[in-house]
Amino acid sequence: MKHSEYYVTDENIISNIVEKQKRYFYEQKTKSKAVRVQALKDLQSMIKSNEEVIMEALKKDLNKSEIEAYASEIGILLEEIRFTLKHLDGWMKSKKAKTVMTHIGSKGYIIPEPYGVTLIIAPWNYPFQLAISPLIGAIAAGNTAIIKPSELTPNVSRVMEELLAKTFDPSFVTVIEGAVETTQILLKQPLDYIFFTGSVNVGKVIMQEAGKQLIPVTLELGGKSPCIVHRDANVELAAKRIMFGKSMNAGQTCVAPDYLLVHKDVKVQLIAQLQKAVTQFYGEDALTSGRYGRIVSERHFDRLIEFLQDGKAVIGGNYNEETLQIAPTVLDEVKWDSSVMQDEIFGPILPLIEYESVDEVVSAVHQKAKPLALYLFSESEEVQQQIINTVSFGGGCINDTIMHLATPHLPFGGVGESGIGQYHGEASFKTFSHFKSVLKQTTKFDFAFKYPSDNQSLKTIKKFLK
Ligand code: NAD
Repeated sequence: MKHSEYYVTDENIISNIVEKQKRYFYEQKTKSKAVRVQALKDLQSMIKSNEEVIMEALKKDLNKSEIEAYASEIGILLEEIRFTLKHLDGWMKSKKAKTVMTHIGSKGYIIPEPYGVTLIIAPWNYPFQLAISPLIGAIAAGNTAIIKPSELTPNVSRVMEELLAKTFDPSFVTVIEGAVETTQILLKQPLDYIFFTGSVNVGKVIMQEAGKQLIPVTLELGGKSPCIVHRDANVELAAKRIMFGKSMNAGQTCVAPDYLLVHKDVKVQLIAQLQKAVTQFYGEDALTSGRYGRIVSERHFDRLIEFLQDGKAVIGGNYNEETLQIAPTVLDEVKWDSSVMQDEIFGPILPLIEYESVDEVVSAVHQKAKPLALYLFSESEEVQQQIINTVSFGGGCINDTIMHLATPHLPFGGVGESGIGQYHGEASFKTFSHFKSVLKQTTKFDFAFKYPSDNQSLKTIKKFLK
């Protein structure tokens, strides 16, 4: 199904939308608490009353099962909206700042203010969630928003455009559908904030373009997220949790465990337990289970199939070219210099490399760019502390995978090549707010020493500032 007729590639149309949103913002229409709350409630009922339409589009684009679609694209958003509505009042309040000796008589305030017109560029892997989740933050902070969905998930893109057009005034929230050309036009507009989720390479393009106008950005990117299974791990539980994180959305999850580092003493046991987990989740054949996703495009499918040459498939390894599905696969006998160990895999293939010491793990992970996530399975507090305190990564879990992303209490984002900035819960509100510092000075008295006319000035200033 091709939707290119919906792409907006006319520069005038796009600049007109941005201009209208600017005007709407400067008319103060997005800022009151009542407007923000109402908009979040409207978004909430839009999602609730269109669950089936959204799930259908996700099924068409990615073969997402209902349970996966609900948990990772719908339920998670409803929870985020509920949390935001509960806390918005406190987040919006100006905070009083302390006064230093030189400023006696004055009062300091930190006031969160919205940026203005925000652009949200979304990827295809969780096409609904990763467009709407930042939108919740943008609205909560009092901005207008333009969403540019991914062209690789055209059904979700269409549904999102239609639903948001019915729910919001386009001068407040709107969807602009399109591919690279559309994004390039959008990036030339006088935007006030850009929130991008996608690949590292495109993230660099976005930052470069934003830099031309000094537009602040959040970049939610990807990378190779290691998953470490130490000799003292609860292997059965580890296998289940690893396979859950890797097979969800057929491995096309930014925080999926990318590769496995397993202590040599538990390797055989882990492989057996991983196989057990696959069978438990999807039966004898994941591809025909009806609960397992597909790869988004032929291009991505072909890229993944190549990786099967890089090791020995001890689990899975089978695929279906017609349905673009690849079974959950574990590759043994993989080398650090294999192609599967270079870039983010973004598919259901899990290469496995064994290790003997934790130091070896730390130095191996340090050879690569800072990952978006890291997972460690170990019962030892000492090993946990060693890894957590020595390795830099966006966020992660001890004895689980991907669950750190699913709570509004933990800010989510990358570090280094895996991203800049954080969101979810209060972090979303902060991301989409500028914190304006204001000093309200007294007119009841005035310190003479700060003026150059007073001969005693320097002496007095030296007393205060030392
Ligand atoms: P992508 O970078 O190819 O595309 C993302 C968006 O950028 C799309 O809307 C696309 O239309 C646009 N785009 C693509 N090329 C562009 C260009 N040259 N100029 C301007 N815009 C362009 O990413 P993707 O393939 O959709 O998503 C997969 C990547 O996203 C993976 O690397 C994954 O790890 C990452 N990701 C990160 C997170 C996170 O939260 N950190 C979440 C999901 C996905």
